[in-house]
Amino acid sequence: MKVIVIGAGIIGAAFAHALARKGAAVTVIEAARPAGGATAKSFGWINANYVQTPTYLRLRLDALEAWRRAAPFIGPALRWGGSLAWEAGGAELEAQAEGIAAAGHEARLIGREEFVRLEPDVADPPDLCLHCPTEGAADPVAATEALLAAAVSLGAERLVGCRASGFLKESGRIAGVETDFGPLPADRVVVAAGVGSEALLAQAGVRLPMENRVGLILHTRPLPPVLRHLVLTPEIHFRQEADGRIVAGELYSGGGAHEGMIDQEPRALAALMLETLRRRLPGVAGIEQGAVMLGLRPTPADGLPILGPARGAEGLYLATTHSGVTLAPLLGEIGAAEIVDGEEDARLAPFRLARFN
Ligand SMILES: Cc1cc2nc3c(=O)[nH]c(=O)nc-3n(C[C@H](O)[C@H](O)[C@H](O)COP(=O)(O)OP(=O)(O)OC[C@H]3O[C@@H](n4cnc5c(N)ncnc54)[C@H](O)[C@@H]3O)c2cc1C
Repeated sequence: MKVIVIGAGIIGAAFAHALARKGAAVTVIEAARPAGGATAKSFGWINANYVQTPTYLRLRLDALEAWRRAAPFIGPALRWGGSLAWEAGGAELEAQAEGIAAAGHEARLIGREEFVRLEPDVADPPDLCLHCPTEGAADPVAATEALLAAAVSLGAERLVGCRASGFLKESGRIAGVETDFGPLPADRVVVAAGVGSEALLAQAGVRLPMENRVGLILHTRPLPPVLRHLVLTPEIHFRQEADGRIVAGELYSGGGAHEGMIDQEPRALAALMLETLRRRLPGVAGIEQGAVMLGLRPTPADGLPILGPARGAEGLYLATTHSGVTLAPLLGEIGAAEIVDGEEDARLAPFRLARFN
């Protein structure tokens, strides 16, 4: 089976790898740079920390397992170590902990003393904190590259600088992709173009309801090892990469205390975040600004993933989601099985596009 994957972000890369593993002849086409879209701007947290809906939490728990299966070929881009979160506090945090633990996530509330033992360099430790020891993070760019390299080693082809502009149709079904470099026929087409998916799918008469949100991520210059966990405080979240960079973001940037600053005054916001980070890590010398990443989070209108075939456009498979770093390997596995084996996976039933009709 010949499959074209449009977009080489982390979702497209995971699909390409899983499809190649299933024996499909895969071509990934990328308009700009692999992992150059939302993926590069991501915080990279792999988590099942919130109960948005029970089925979505279940999917995220399965996603943690899928990352563990992918770990052998991802290498140091993947870092476990767990998360320490208290973005909410009091009863809200207790309910959050109870909800995810009831679904089977390893999650418990810890007090100040234990927090200090786990992260001694973080100032102003909380009285109550949610500890999820099985969560982790991926360096999203390196992980995408690793997934693409694994796909290529299985025979996948990658065409970079090749923009999909529309679709080929034959006997009423999608039969490939129109690109800047001419037509590319295929049996199936996966649309994993992130925030570009909406406009592209309109060419096939498919409406994707999206409410994308802005986000800002700050990288520091590399520092000696200081953090073992992802740390999520009410005003900032941060973690450390294998190369020493600290990666920081704001609570659901775009909806927090500094709403509006991301697109209006991103440099002022980055300076504010750097100050907060220095306050949180007072014993760490030389916290200096590295890259400031501004991005759009691909976000379906109800906040949940949109996955699977598109009714009325046979041959197309949709894969658009926020939390794509958490979900990528699992969605690749499930999507490849649905595409190649024709099996519908019940786990995706709540996430079909048809729910918007
Ligand atoms: C600030 C921020 C923080 C985040 N934090 C987290 C987090 O902690 N954990 C988490 O799980 N998720 C997080 N996310 C979300 C996550 O990063 C995204 O869900 C994920 O990166 C989406 O991946 P993607 O491959 O779908 O999209 P993208 O990475 O955007 O990739 C899509 C690719 O398609 C290409 N493309 C677009 N149109 C075309 C076309 N017509 N033809 C060919 N190619 C095309 C683009 O160039 C791009 O490379 C965060 C996002 C942001 C912005």
